Amino acid sequence: MKNFTGYKCSLCGTEYLPGQVTYTCPKDGGNLDVVLDYDSIKKKFQPEDITSRTESSLWRYLPLLPVGEPEGDSTPLHASGWTPVFALPRLAEKLNLKHLWLKDESRNPTASFKDRASAVVVTRARELKSEVVVTASTGNAGAALAGMAAAVGQKAVIFAPKTAPQAKVAQLLIFGAKVILVDGTYDDAFDLTVKAANEFGWYCRNTGYNPFTLEGKKTAAFEIWEWWIEAHRDWHQKDSPLDNHPPLTIFVSVGDGNIISGIHKGFKDLMALGWIPNMPRIVGVQAEGSAAIANAFHANTETVTPVSAKTIADSISVDLPRDGVRAVRAAMHTDGTYVTVSDDEIIQAIAELGRMGIFAEPAGATAYAGLVKATSLGVVGSDSPILVMNTGGGLKDVRAAMQAVPSAPIIEPTLEAVKKIL
Ligand SMILES: *Cc1c(COP(=O)(O)O)cnc(C)c1O
Ligand SMILES: [Zn+2]
Repeated sequence: MKNFTGYKCSLCGTEYLPGQVTYTCPKDGGNLDVVLDYDSIKKKFQPEDITSRTESSLWRYLPLLPVGEPEGDSTPLHASGWTPVFALPRLAEKLNLKHLWLKDESRNPTASFKDRASAVVVTRARELKSEVVVTASTGNAGAALAGMAAAVGQKAVIFAPKTAPQAKVAQLLIFGAKVILVDGTYDDAFDLTVKAANEFGWYCRNTGYNPFTLEGKKTAAFEIWEWWIEAHRDWHQKDSPLDNHPPLTIFVSVGDGNIISGIHKGFKDLMALGWIPNMPRIVGVQAEGSAAIANAFHANTETVTPVSAKTIADSISVDLPRDGVRAVRAAMHTDGTYVTVSDDEIIQAIAELGRMGIFAEPAGATAYAGLVKATSLGVVGSDSPILVMNTGGGLKDVRAAMQAVPSAPIIEPTLEAVKKIL
């Protein structure tokens, strides 16, 4: 917290003090990057001071966050992050890759990557003594905010499109948030939320609007950094001439562009601290029907033109991405790229991950679908070490999951019937 020195606009570069602004740049509406005092952090901490901590949540990175320690302990808000990484040797073989892993964000308290952002935003809201926190959401950001808020007794209001999957709406309601379903798109809910926050003096968590979401999301990069130190060491012990292998390539699904920007920010923080020698490559994956950022990337521009989004992956169905510029840069500045996938490819990916014991919602499986696409396009070489993010859990959208698999047969309760079916 003491290391939080202000903000810098991602468009015009104007710097602001912590108390000067709350959301976006007053001059041009650009997203603000939180600025930390890297020199002071570097003087006080060595990487080992972080990596040797026993805290198994994103709060192990407290010295690199712009908030203080959250109140209480052992609540779900304290349990966000520190998600497992699984090796996927069977899928690696299928794709002709040497090394493939998946970081499973569905193991966060409310079963999506969004918990990282909401844990930090709720902590910020408590510091600002905000009575109410509000967010627009396709479901997961809201569930995460509602869950983290409930964990510390914070009031929350959620605006979601009325088409949000049932399970996500159930989560919002169960966590005791005030839930308002909007007869419109996520983008409509987004704009309404900003208006309501201004009108009623609520603290707004909106993705790609509140600068603190990125700070929560960047902790995934810190975890990847710690994991990679270990994985890489094992690897070199087994197979020493690998020093010249390509850098780690990270695949992540993209809607508003805040997760990919957050992962990029985390690695930029580590570069600024001199704790990593080079950047991993970051590859964004979008649904073909919601590909505003991928379109901009391939047109080689930072100007993101809105689309009329339509995809089964509701969590990444976005007309106007709210963090598009930084999302384009995340791939552009890391030698990464963007790939797009069809809804059928996403559904196929749900089934393939399922057979590895991983249950992803459509937007979660999208990153793996993107890897399949990228290997077929030759975007990644077979010796590139690959890490795929699963950003959300499959139970959130059971209707989509059922499209990925044949339905189960119904039989008479007799052995004959079983024999017939086998
Ligand atoms: C929000 C979300 C995404 C995309 O994150 P953005 O910041 O909107 O790009 C991907 N997957 C899941 C499961 C999500 O909830
Ligand atoms: Zn600006």
